[in-house]
Amino acid sequence: MAEPRTARTFDVEAEASLFGFDATPASATITPRTNAWRIGGAAAKFGGFAVIAPFVAVFPPHAVWLIGALLAGSFLARRHYVERFTLERVESSCPKCGATISTRPTRLLTPHPLPCDGCHHSSILRLPEGTLEEHAAS
Ligand SMILES: [Zn+2]
Repeated sequence: MAEPRTARTFDVEAEASLFGFDATPASATITPRTNAWRIGGAAAKFGGFAVIAPFVAVFPPHAVWLIGALLAGSFLARRHYVERFTLERVESSCPKCGATISTRPTRLLTPHPLPCDGCHHSSILRLPEGTLEEHAAS
């Protein structure tokens, strides 16, 4: 998912919050995904697994591999399809212990957990109200 920055990619000042602790400032980079990107990627993922399914079905027990390949393709296709926004990176510090929080590019969840490697607590990424609606791609 590490793709080059698109024209729609934007930076936003947010905060990392954890119940019982003061929120810390966070800087996030987010890429809105178009329907074409989501549908095309989902079709490519399912198509890839549909192509390999007959080949893995050669090995006994045949049906298990065939069904497994199709289920894996469906699972990955669905994950790609529901990715409306990609969280490219977050720069923040943990509200509890102050350790630096870093993430790999991933699907943006709401609320999005920010696990801390220092204290193993998970703070929540809070974006300014209306940020995602404002930047939503069609
Ligand atoms: Zn921490």
